[in-house]
Amino acid sequence: TAPVIETDAVIVGAGPVGLFQVFELGLLEIKAHIIDSLAYPGGQCIELYPDKPIYDIPAVPVCTGRELTDNLLKQIEPFGATFHLGQEVTVVDKQADGRFHVETSKGTRFLTKTIFIAGGVGSFQPRLLKVEGLDKYDDTQLFYRVKNPAQFAGKNLVIVGGGDSALDWTLNFVQDGPNKAESVILIHRRDGFKAAPASVARMRELCEAYEMQFVVGQVTGIEEAAGKLTSIKITGSDGVTRVMPLDVLLVFFGLSPKLGPIAEWGLNLERKQIVVDTEKFETSTPGIFAVGDVNTYPGKKKLILSGFHEAALAAFAAAPYIFPDKRIHLQYTTTSPKLHKVLGVE
Ligand code: FAD
Repeated sequence: TAPVIETDAVIVGAGPVGLFQVFELGLLEIKAHIIDSLAYPGGQCIELYPDKPIYDIPAVPVCTGRELTDNLLKQIEPFGATFHLGQEVTVVDKQADGRFHVETSKGTRFLTKTIFIAGGVGSFQPRLLKVEGLDKYDDTQLFYRVKNPAQFAGKNLVIVGGGDSALDWTLNFVQDGPNKAESVILIHRRDGFKAAPASVARMRELCEAYEMQFVVGQVTGIEEAAGKLTSIKITGSDGVTRVMPLDVLLVFFGLSPKLGPIAEWGLNLERKQIVVDTEKFETSTPGIFAVGDVNTYPGKKKLILSGFHEAALAAFAAAPYIFPDKRIHLQYTTTSPKLHKVLGVE
């Protein structure tokens, strides 16, 4: 196993508020590690509305979710935070020495003086296809994400879903290339897609050329033999159920957020949100702070700008845990030579 990472601060969640937390800690010369279950930073802004305009970021009249994320990443660059993506924080335990032991689903372990939970509405998990008996094939013949496309080359694939992931992977596995499958059947519950029109048009062309098949219907059952998934049953809009043999079933129903393990860390919760005070944004466990959509207090508004303010005060409140003997003064980024140094703009 990898050695334990000793650090001053761990941020759980790389949404806009977790990213800005890096900045506010950085100004106080606190280095952070930041973890997200998604494979990329940006939280809801990237996962739910990358191309939609946001109009209420102070002094930014308009920017998209993606632009906001890119700008935050640029703004925090001087602080060299370490990103640990594609892994969920599962364990948070207080140690006898006052530090916290933090562990992720990939086995990355930390010993940290402070924790900033910026988990938003929770970590995004794939929506599951619920068909009796199917669960046990998870990760052998049933997949909700593609990590290594080459693993599916030459196989008989059934792909379920009607969004961009379903269409993009369908095209990837049908067209000539290193991942070309033996056969591909796309299944969606209706003959209409929430995906780029060009991908849908390309998929229809490939169907007309008999390179693949598209079937309108829903998965209603499975067939197994000798411990293997051999076929799925598809019930069409005509009410007829057809049996389709396959090697692998790929399901792309999108992602939905789940508060998940955060609920089990012994923090005071109210309606699945972490209760904090409005001076320090500290939770019921000293040394653990909660900022952004994940927290609650009287008057809370789930807005990005509120999260930014919370991150600033939480950073100041955390400093005494990290530098017990240092007096922390408020300084302006405009005029402070010390801040210019940490920002690298001397
Ligand atoms: P999130 O953005 O939710 O990020 C949290 C991150 O934490 C996620 O990436 C998640 O994967 C990760 N995470 C959670 N738990 C764990 C765990 N255990 N381990 C690892 N990672 C974890 N706000 C505005 O101010 N203005 C707007 O115009 C606006 N428009 C919006 C439009 C839409 C369609 C939506 C859905 C929201 C909008 N919002 C808007 C709200 C705004 O997106 C949220 O307030 C903001 O994203 C909250 O940021 P956050 O960093 O707190 O959480």
